[in-house]
Amino acid sequence: MRYRSLLLLVLCLVSLAAFAAEPQSVLPSPIPIPQAAQASAHFDPEAATNAYLALMPPAAKARSDAYFEGGYWLILWEFLWGAAISIALLAFGWSIRMRERAERMSSRPWLQTILYLLQYFAVLGVAGFPLTLYESFFREHQYGLSTQTFAAWMGDLSLDFALDVVMGAIVGSVLYAIVRKLSRTWWIWGAITTSAFVVLLQLIWPVFLSPLFNKRVPLHDPKVTEPILRMARANGISARDVYEIDASKQTTRMSANVSGFGSTMRITINDNLLRRGSPEEIQAFMGHEIGHYVLNHSYDRAFKFTILIAMWFVALRLTLGWALARWGTRQGLRGISDTAALPLVVLLSSLFFFVLTPVINTIIRTQEAEADMYGLNAAHEPDGFAQAALHLGEYRKMSPGPVEEFLFFDHPSGRARILAAMRWKEGERASRPQSTAVSAGDQKK
Ligand SMILES: [Zn+2]
Repeated sequence: MRYRSLLLLVLCLVSLAAFAAEPQSVLPSPIPIPQAAQASAHFDPEAATNAYLALMPPAAKARSDAYFEGGYWLILWEFLWGAAISIALLAFGWSIRMRERAERMSSRPWLQTILYLLQYFAVLGVAGFPLTLYESFFREHQYGLSTQTFAAWMGDLSLDFALDVVMGAIVGSVLYAIVRKLSRTWWIWGAITTSAFVVLLQLIWPVFLSPLFNKRVPLHDPKVTEPILRMARANGISARDVYEIDASKQTTRMSANVSGFGSTMRITINDNLLRRGSPEEIQAFMGHEIGHYVLNHSYDRAFKFTILIAMWFVALRLTLGWALARWGTRQGLRGISDTAALPLVVLLSSLFFFVLTPVINTIIRTQEAEADMYGLNAAHEPDGFAQAALHLGEYRKMSPGPVEEFLFFDHPSGRARILAAMRWKEGERASRPQSTAVSAGDQKK
């Protein structure tokens, strides 16, 4: 009986998904250069920016605003949902029963940890599923951003979950071994181990894990690849090929990246950008990605996140003992090294990262603004850059208030990006000798 209602639920979901599976693009591709943004003697960056923003139909703007603002609430719901799961596991004694089951199955501490973690991930997978289903399937379809059927989405989600379980079990058992062996300095070694793992994950993701989800093939269109490789070489990147990745099987979003080092160095463009972007837009986009690479942003980010991870372990060191003394003993938790206390660790950690959301966003957004400026200087395509900002505005609010941008934006807003591009265009024109400025302008016409 229960089996049949589950089947019915799945069928309902699949049919709903079939309705919503049509991808929608709300902005023209390629985007034209509006009159006020054309090079002229009276060029005004503000007016040019407003002219670009006016290309966005009101319905598209309303939709993008609603999608992005909904994301603010999702940060809160995710935190509360996760907190509720942790509290339930602790308050009803489920976590202790999971630990007791693990202890009955093995007498080895490391195996007991893994057995507990497997049960914990199973609970998270089931209890977190409704929110994940809404957030990354229904909501993405509602806003025309997903191209996946329910079955394909479930396939990706299952693979993602399996990877999380394997990596979580490895890191979790190492961290618990550290806590058991080093009862006074666990927080120092824990922070070092976690940071090392984050860096390792960053290195193996593009080479080993991303190919499990998407196919990457060399792009053989010299019209696209030659300008990119020329710009890459001019900026000290020795890549020989440009790769195309089939992101359109999951999403309508555009993206690209430059990753790896030495012989694994790669320039990758997703097929949405190739299909929808003008040549100037692709060049501007790649200038930004080359900027991330040349400015060593992945190392810089790893360094800043290591500091955050250290702060996180200090916060755990300060709060965990106190919380265990106050509630844990009464609940039957034995101490920090008790795996049954994991939901408490997760609860305190999620509170820490919830509060730090604006800090994390600002670390990323600052790098993005740097890459923007680098890209403008490398690609010399301010209008292509504005076109890309508009396309990305299909799911990122274009004109937020300053506080809103500080709190919630991990990239500069579309308005800020277009304004930066139009200022660049004005400055570049003004700094050129008069004669070449006129001839270059003539050639473009
Ligand atoms: Zn970027």
